[in-house]
Amino acid sequence: MNISLIAHDKKKNDLIEFVKRYKNVFEKHKLFATGTTGKRIQEEIGLDVYRFLSGPLGGDQQIGGRIAEGNMDLIIFLRDPLTSQPHEPDVAALIRVCDVHHVPIATNLGSAEVFLKALK
Ligand code: PGA
Repeated sequence: MNISLIAHDKKKNDLIEFVKRYKNVFEKHKLFATGTTGKRIQEEIGLDVYRFLSGPLGGDQQIGGRIAEGNMDLIIFLRDPLTSQPHEPDVAALIRVCDVHHVPIATNLGSAEVFLKALK
């Protein structure tokens, strides 16, 4: 499966802990991420990740493009609902394109957990 991982700044530690916990599952799939999120996953967990641009610089849109082309199977996007983001329209567009193409997207740890248990 092609899996994209994205986390807003205040959610990055949560995502790192989550990916560490499910490393044995994630390592069986092809991973993609926005720039900073991907860098942390590579450096702190050692998983191989294809990195797009940083989210605010267009990385969310790049992932959205892959979704529209039918090349993404699962998205884990830990968004921060309490902080306004300069690229909020990109975030909304990413969630929308998932809904258009029926691609599962987890936007919090609860749903991410359910998806990963299903992948196990
Ligand atoms: P980042 O982007 O991984 O480059 O920080 C995430 C985002 O804010 O969409």
